[in-house]
Amino acid sequence: MYIHLKTLGCRLNEAELETWAHAYQTAGHQITREPEQANLVIINSCSVTSDANRKSRQLIRRIHRSNPKAKLVVSGCYATLNPDEAADLLGVDMVISNADKDQLVHKSLTELDFDNMPSMSTEPGEFSLFQRGRQRAFVKVQDGCRYRCSFCIVTVARGDEISRPIQQIIDEINTLYQQGIQEVILTGVHLGGYGHDIYTDLSQLIQTILSATDIPRVRLGSLEPWELSDHFFQLFENQRLMPHLHLPLQSGSDSVLKRMARRCKTAEFTTLIDEARSHIAHFNVSTDIIVGFPGETESEWQQSYDYIKSVGFGQMHIFSYSPRTGTKAAEMNHQVPNATKKQRSQQLHTLAADMRHEFIQTNLGQTFDVLWEAKSMAADEQDEKQWVFGYTPNYLRVACQTDKQNKLENQILKAQLSALQNSYIETQLIT
Ligand code: SF4
Repeated sequence: MYIHLKTLGCRLNEAELETWAHAYQTAGHQITREPEQANLVIINSCSVTSDANRKSRQLIRRIHRSNPKAKLVVSGCYATLNPDEAADLLGVDMVISNADKDQLVHKSLTELDFDNMPSMSTEPGEFSLFQRGRQRAFVKVQDGCRYRCSFCIVTVARGDEISRPIQQIIDEINTLYQQGIQEVILTGVHLGGYGHDIYTDLSQLIQTILSATDIPRVRLGSLEPWELSDHFFQLFENQRLMPHLHLPLQSGSDSVLKRMARRCKTAEFTTLIDEARSHIAHFNVSTDIIVGFPGETESEWQQSYDYIKSVGFGQMHIFSYSPRTGTKAAEMNHQVPNATKKQRSQQLHTLAADMRHEFIQTNLGQTFDVLWEAKSMAADEQDEKQWVFGYTPNYLRVACQTDKQNKLENQILKAQLSALQNSYIETQLIT
């Protein structure tokens, strides 16, 4: 049987998709990139904003239109928070809440009525990540969050914190490495809370991964900027831990952060960033910012803008606040008009582009180990050249032009960063 998996939203959803893909393969099914070819389609939906809800519905409808015969299973935050609405969408055969995600593969295979059951088992060495065009693997290490940031619906949808045992994670990473994966990204709803429920912590997990596996690159997924243990940044002295952190700040105004019920104010954030940058050269910090949070005054906005500018981020994801039913922020007075949100968002997008540009400039001329991932299809036919893309340790997207017979994919090779193009940085391979 052919199975197509699709996700929207966070890296945790990505990680879950990888786990399911692997489980379907182990059960003897094949993963396909083409929804039209699939007998079963799995959608891991998202609900982080109302736009994400809309996109989840759109995706479900689009997939059903492209292959009305396939069985369609929907899980994820949108499906968990709106189970009846999701079940009523045309073509949906099964809705699986986040709480039952561990059962998704089993339930979909046993409770749906398929004409053809699997008859053959997976090819040795075949692996979902490559089939899905990925060279890096997401590893989910924990789920849930014990905090209640006032805008966050995810914490309501995901429930309590549950950490996976360290040995289970080590085994998964060792298996991924044997299958050819060069880089793992540790993910969780509240990654920094890893181990809270099993008497350990994230630093201990990272240390164990670095000592008990040979995976060349370990990267951390989005990490709330609190609860990091003392000496956390010393871990990055091991060059297998990639010098990039995505630390969601959400606002650069302390009074807004207070209304958001965030556990990290600007002074603490500055301390973290200073520590990171003092330990590792070219450390990349990216972030999320919400503009137009309820009651965000002009002066709070200005404070926020100035603070963000003073920190300087390598990349910034900007969200215009939208109320999510079931959260505290949705009930707050003084919702900011859409026109104001739009104008603040535009201002921040301009700043984000400038800061990215500035960060990249400080990296030009440097030589980094690049994990080469994907080839460009638009290679120059005539002179037998191809463009290959990849990421530096500090998560800059780079490209190099090489001979077509040069197989760089999934290798880690040195390259010197030479020039900034639109969405990538041109490099010269060092051979
Ligand atoms: S810490 Fe993150 S997951 Fe937890 S409530 Fe806040 S935003 Fe949501």
